[in-house]
Amino acid sequence: MPRTCTICAHAERAAIDAAALAGASFRDIAGQFHVSRSAVLRHKAEHLLAELVKAKQAEDVSRATDLLTMATERDKTALALLARADESQSPSRPRGAEAPTARLPPRKVSRPPR
Ligand SMILES: [Zn+2]
Repeated sequence: MPRTCTICAHAERAAIDAAALAGASFRDIAGQFHVSRSAVLRHKAEHLLAELVKAKQAEDVSRATDLLTMATERDKTALALLARADESQSPSRPRGAEAPTARLPPRKVSRPPR
């Protein structure tokens, strides 16, 4: 059965982690929190750094999700602008009005005299 990490189970774990990340010596941390130096060393190497990697990965995923959301919103805006541009190029008529049925007479083409 694997041993429980005394630092992970420690009531002041957050303070120990902060001290370890701030660069305090293992001996100072051990003395301040009444734990063994080897426990601090093992905790930092096997648990604390692994958690930092996981936190960084989660942050990256979160940032990627934010970027994807932004890109999606921009796409929606671009599509809305495109639809508006298409509407402005088609003949304008009131909503619900039928399309005009009358056609313009064919255009007369003037040719230079021979
Ligand atoms: Zn630990």
